[in-house]
Amino acid sequence: MRRFFLISITLLALSTKLFSKTYHWRKGTTFLSFLRNNGISQKLYYELDSQDKELLEEIRVGQSYTVTKKKKTKTILIPITDEIQVKIVKKYKNRAKISLEPIPYKVVRNSIYIKVKKSIYSDLYKKTHSMTLVRSLKRAYRSLDLHKMKRGDILKLIYEQHIRKGKTISSPKLLASLVTIKGKKYYSYLADDGRYYDSLGKEYRTIKKTFIPYLRPISINRCRISSCFTRRRFHPILHRYRAHLGVDYAARRGTPIRATANGRIIKRGRKGGYGNCIIIQHKHGLKSLYAHMSRYRRGLRVGSRVKQGTVIGYVGTTGRSTGPHLHFGMYKYRRAVNPARYVRVKKHQEITNILKGKEYRKLRKKVVFFRKKFAQIKKVGNYSFFVRNETSLIRNKKKRG
Ligand SMILES: [Zn+2]
Repeated sequence: MRRFFLISITLLALSTKLFSKTYHWRKGTTFLSFLRNNGISQKLYYELDSQDKELLEEIRVGQSYTVTKKKKTKTILIPITDEIQVKIVKKYKNRAKISLEPIPYKVVRNSIYIKVKKSIYSDLYKKTHSMTLVRSLKRAYRSLDLHKMKRGDILKLIYEQHIRKGKTISSPKLLASLVTIKGKKYYSYLADDGRYYDSLGKEYRTIKKTFIPYLRPISINRCRISSCFTRRRFHPILHRYRAHLGVDYAARRGTPIRATANGRIIKRGRKGGYGNCIIIQHKHGLKSLYAHMSRYRRGLRVGSRVKQGTVIGYVGTTGRSTGPHLHFGMYKYRRAVNPARYVRVKKHQEITNILKGKEYRKLRKKVVFFRKKFAQIKKVGNYSFFVRNETSLIRNKKKRG
């Protein structure tokens, strides 16, 4: 009853106080002259930002626009592109307001059912003449080779498009699809992040991730390598030992030293010629040694866990040392190895994105929804089955609230 009452009031308001007229944009009209002819201050135009001004130059000759009068408010709507319109609102004696706004449109959802004849991609193109859909399908199953689909295999897909006045104004957006390969079904759903996932939230894509398992303990612009790793035991001419089981980084006293990788501190204290040093135990039997430190970072002790890149102490010249530097050593199962072989070497890993928590629950809702739709698509062909008013719907809701 109450709803009926509200509707009647709205209708009454529409019929008595709303006048809407359509005009066409005349040749030779500029936006400025348009404002002048409508009694609107041209200042408003100059207050717009330069990109908006540029857009206003794009109003086409012959473009239809509407002028609506409601009580003492005049609203002018001029479409510029298929998506954007300029809105001018003038309330009685008040200053007019100019804004650029999206044009309301409808969303239509369509489905397509194809039985593969030649190749899935050419069959899809033949049916839809849309390269966007073909590309989207490839993207929807990136880690799956759809060329494996044989004659008789099935593709069902659901996409949506924006339309206005019966004309499509956007390229198709693939929402969900189902393919069969050797009788096995593969579903793919578009999630809110713009990527395609299977029913369990696993993305149809593997990402190659590059990482550095062992970091240089001092950043490159704060040091220079003053001595390299060498095993040469005895120099034949100099007649003295030249082994150096680490890399020396000359740096200013107090320069931060960082843990090369995640690990646990197994030594923190003086160690002969190394002076103040820290030793960290890492995975794979690896240890790293940092020597001649001026001081340790506060709070670190034997047993502390450190993350890669954490500052553990500062450069100094304690122990047997001729000037401030970091002696950095690495040991694999107690044998000294050349740190240069580990540090900064990039590794690659293949990762598959899996949705979790809230994002996963959202996807599962889509899965349930589209599974039902897929069950309805039973005949080869294409059907539209869902139409929704987009921006106009949102605006009406706002007005009511
Ligand atoms: Zn050294």
